[in-house]
Amino acid sequence: MPGFFYEPIDRKTFLKASGVFTATALISRALDANQKTVESNQTRIALLSDTHIPVDVNEAYRGFRPTENLKAVVKQVAETAPAAALINGDAARLVGAEADYLMLKSLLKPLAHTVPIHIGLGNHDDRHNFFKIFPATEKSAVDGKHVSIFEAAGTRFIILDSLLYVNKTAGLLGKATRSWLKTYLEEVDEKPILFFVHHTLSDGDSSLLDFDRFFEIVRPHKHVKAIFYGHSHRYHVEQKDHIYLINQPALGYNFNDNEPVGWLDATFSPQGVDLTLRAIAGNKKGNDETKAIVWA
Ligand SMILES: [Zn+2]
Repeated sequence: MPGFFYEPIDRKTFLKASGVFTATALISRALDANQKTVESNQTRIALLSDTHIPVDVNEAYRGFRPTENLKAVVKQVAETAPAAALINGDAARLVGAEADYLMLKSLLKPLAHTVPIHIGLGNHDDRHNFFKIFPATEKSAVDGKHVSIFEAAGTRFIILDSLLYVNKTAGLLGKATRSWLKTYLEEVDEKPILFFVHHTLSDGDSSLLDFDRFFEIVRPHKHVKAIFYGHSHRYHVEQKDHIYLINQPALGYNFNDNEPVGWLDATFSPQGVDLTLRAIAGNKKGNDETKAIVWA
């Protein structure tokens, strides 16, 4: 799978290497694993976006330190022991330097021992450098792009690649992705489908430039339930026709004092998702609040 980081280590090494997990946490994870084998219809996924990790650990923007934020959140996420974690683009600070990804990899490593991490690309990522540090283990669904699909809780999670230019704001899925998607949606069964794409879903010049064409492709399919996105560093949920558009909060920094900095602890089922905001900085007013979303 492209953009996938998972390095499980054996239990003995794991106990030695990690101060985070208690024996109790290990036992409950084992139980979780058993539940999964009997097809649990709920899955918990840590949703992160816009981590903006710089090579320089001291780098700050608007008073936020992305490296410190990710360190804190890796700890929080590990403690909640989700089935997976997902970063919805802008993993790197600005230009997607190899050194940024090496830093990101070292920060994520303690989590990757126990939790598979999916990483999508944003406009501050560089596809080539990214794959040097996070080599693809499987072919992308679309040639030359980083498109991956996984299933959990009777739901398909599809991570799209909207990276058009490195370090410029606009994004595009492009014709190859749209053509693939059209055929794919006609052929798959009726399990709920959720998309993850970095760019904002509007007609703005710095948004996903082919959003209208993308939406026309997904709109006829009632089993497409939501599109998750990042880019604007705000937390917002709205509905367009039957599809939820969910703007994930940024983890690196906000652009506006009203917005939280943090992540979403998400529990998915075939019927919907519960999103609990874990705000670690910025506007923390909504911290720990859960939005219960039922798919239309
Ligand atoms: Zn960003």
